[in-house]
Amino acid sequence: MSARIIDGTAIAAAIREELRPAVEAFSRRAGRPPGLGIVLVGHEPASEIYVRGKLRAGTEAGLWVDLQRLPATASLAEVLALVDRLNASPRHDGILVQDPLPAAMGPGAAQQVFDAIDPRKDVDGFNPASVGRLVQNRPTLAPCTPSGVIEMLDRSEIAMAGARAVIIGRSDIVGKPMAMLLLHHHATVTICHSKTRDLAAVAAEADILVAALGRAAFVTPGFVRPGATVVDVGISRVTDRAEVERLYAPDSPRRATFEKRGSLVVGDVHPDVAAVAGAITPVPGGVGPMTIAMLLKNTLAAATSTAGR
Ligand code: NAD
Repeated sequence: MSARIIDGTAIAAAIREELRPAVEAFSRRAGRPPGLGIVLVGHEPASEIYVRGKLRAGTEAGLWVDLQRLPATASLAEVLALVDRLNASPRHDGILVQDPLPAAMGPGAAQQVFDAIDPRKDVDGFNPASVGRLVQNRPTLAPCTPSGVIEMLDRSEIAMAGARAVIIGRSDIVGKPMAMLLLHHHATVTICHSKTRDLAAVAAEADILVAALGRAAFVTPGFVRPGATVVDVGISRVTDRAEVERLYAPDSPRRATFEKRGSLVVGDVHPDVAAVAGAITPVPGGVGPMTIAMLLKNTLAAATSTAGR
């Protein structure tokens, strides 16, 4: 049996449609559209692609998206000064600093920058105040990728209450907030990571398995209980032809995509898992578009809650 595909592109499009009237109402009321400031430091190719996607989606949704670029040589102080300016700006309801910052800024730079963002404008939900409110299950701007996963599960009528959920990956931006959100939806949650013993056996206990480790096709059918829901957060760019040939059958459309582009975006979940899982999110077209939809939703929420200030 082949798993039901949870179509993130379609669900994200539905969310964007739902947001449209609320964006219009805000713009009429406030005399300006909701504003999102994106800070991009340097020219990292993947970041350029992500930022372009956010810019396009935001503009299409009727937001004012202000891309603020700094050179790769910018200092941490310059980034912090820019964040301060955006914090003080009445036109910027949301602020996002694209991760990663250049390595030369030092290992703690990103956290220092996230710490500096006004929590009311923290549309990525990485500020410690936002994280604390999330842990306490209080209203907050929650990180976009895990909240996108919750929306997908919810709208696909995947029961979370009482379900056994296993997350592979414990990062601050995906794994940990994912665990909190699933917990708040009454799942019984296990977080796995690179030191977890018997990882496949733990994963195979899940009704809902979230793969967020960033290793192409790592999660094979042996990790998956038959009928489980599998959410694939991973994004890896595979350029090795032999690997693509190992993963995809000769008649797979993915092979044709690889021939055309010379590379392939692959998730953390092996294609063979589709034969075992009950439902699965594809890559591309799964969690990725949901992340952007949730960014728009967070920006509108930030705009709406700050409009009366
Ligand atoms: P990260 O590198 O910060 O964290 C990876 C986590 O996986 C770590 O906690 C680590 O312990 C765990 N891990 C690594 N190797 C492991 C192994 N062999 N076994 C078990 N656990 C292992 O990554 P991240 O920022 O959380 O992102 C994870 C993946 O999700 C990446 O591929 C990233 O590109 C992708 N991502 C996608 C979106 C989206 O919108 N679709 C958003 C954010 C991140």
